[in-house]
Amino acid sequence: MPDLTTRTRQILAELGAGDPFLVDKAADGAADGALVARSPIDGSTLGRLAAQTPDDVAAAVTRAQAAFEQWRVVPAPVRGHLVRELGELLRENKELLGELVSIEAGKIRSEGLGEVQEMIDICEFAVGLSRQLHGLTIASERPGHRMMEQWHPLGVVGVISAFNFPVAVWSWNAALALVAGDAVVWKPSEKTLLTALGCQALLAEAARRVGAPADIAQVVVGDAAVGEALVDDPRVPLVSATGSTRMGKLVAPRVAARLGRCLLELGGNNAAIVAPSADLDLAVRGIVFAAVGTAGQRCTSLRRVIVHESVHDQLVTRLSKAYGTLSIGSPLDPATLVGPLVDAAATEGFLAAVEQAQADGGRLVTGGGRADGVPGGEYVVPAVVDMPAQTDIVRQETFAPLLYVLTYRDLGEAIALHNEVAQGLSSAIFTLDVREAETFTSAVGSDCGIANVNIGTSGAEIGGAFGGEKETGGGRESGSDAWKAYMRRATNTINYSTELPLAQGVEFG
Ligand code: NAD
Repeated sequence: MPDLTTRTRQILAELGAGDPFLVDKAADGAADGALVARSPIDGSTLGRLAAQTPDDVAAAVTRAQAAFEQWRVVPAPVRGHLVRELGELLRENKELLGELVSIEAGKIRSEGLGEVQEMIDICEFAVGLSRQLHGLTIASERPGHRMMEQWHPLGVVGVISAFNFPVAVWSWNAALALVAGDAVVWKPSEKTLLTALGCQALLAEAARRVGAPADIAQVVVGDAAVGEALVDDPRVPLVSATGSTRMGKLVAPRVAARLGRCLLELGGNNAAIVAPSADLDLAVRGIVFAAVGTAGQRCTSLRRVIVHESVHDQLVTRLSKAYGTLSIGSPLDPATLVGPLVDAAATEGFLAAVEQAQADGGRLVTGGGRADGVPGGEYVVPAVVDMPAQTDIVRQETFAPLLYVLTYRDLGEAIALHNEVAQGLSSAIFTLDVREAETFTSAVGSDCGIANVNIGTSGAEIGGAFGGEKETGGGRESGSDAWKAYMRRATNTINYSTELPLAQGVEFG
């Protein structure tokens, strides 16, 4: 097996990405302004890329704008051919791109591959959608008149993405935007640059094959300053930004200041209620995957369990046992279930939160420290902390495998605890009682964008609209009618009579 750097370069070459930005120096550090691509598996440097500047972003938007002007007149079903081709290329390169996701983001192999599968799924969805960008026909109050709605391409869509879904988030946005007739300029996370170059190479090849404009989708790499240049560009009518609530609070006012549109997919603090009637086998499996999968680094990761007092002890004992069997190590090892955290700051955040929870009176049930015997990388032991109350630390999103357990007596109290956080992304209830399940999913239940029954909080399918309320940002991506965010609506009234009646019966002259 070659070292990670060599393997990364092989994969990039096979994906057709070559070394377009790679600065061929192995030295660490970014003193000369270069970006350093690292693997969280062992901290090794995978390559160095020249960071782009705000001027480069402006030039990319100019090229994207020109491509948009050609693309918007291509019929939507023909635009679908581009996304169909991208889906085919992703199918052919699933293993390679999945491996690169594992190397650069630290996901276990199955989750790296799952992320690419999600890209393939959204491409299929978008191809079907390319023939279904329907408007309404609306009854007019005036004789001899017809009203209708049309959905038109919007323009250049700016996509800012987070490290933890380095490729899927781009595809959720790009697949819909491209069939909608838009151009895309993507700023990936500075922690996952190389997967972005791989995706861009596949998209460029798909565009070449179907004769789509070469500049219809572009990547700009850099830190927040590069993101800000995209955010501030008035030629970008929609900024779709995925990342922390902190980032969203910086981005939203800037886009609002120029009256642009934002689609925000921000942090979560997801909870599951475990009711007295719950199937505990199912609940334990659902909880462990949701809390520990991707080393707790999903926006939908389970962070809080709110369990009825009658099943509290039993659940905690079973969770502790299940956590004891988790294999921690390199995500490239097929036996591993828990890979590394993305960087040292993430480990510090995890350790500090575990300490604070105990200072708040929490009892550490299992885990909580660095993982012994795993070389390199940022490996921690997933933790469960039994809390006496929902303290400040529990209300925060700690982006790591840290699960808090809270106890309740009646469902009203459980729902109140559930909703008493600033974030509103994903939620679940484990119950066999139909009244409880329906109450949880009703208007007086969970206040999240996603509310599940008898499954965990993570692992959404692309067919549904994905996103959340409150500090999660309110955006919806992926399935259902999320495509409407990427288009502009025009209301048309057509007079096919010889009269000119005015609406509301107004007489004029
Ligand atoms: P982050 O906020 O640090 O970075 C996300 C992206 O925003 C990066 O590309 C970064 O360069 C960019 N950015 C940062 N500041 C910016 C600014 N001022 N202007 C423009 N761009 C800026 O997030 P992260 O650590 O990469 O990802 C983890 C976070 O993302 C978690 O909070 C997680 O819940 C959230 N997330 C949410 C979803 C969702 O769909 N709701 C999905 C994935 C991740």
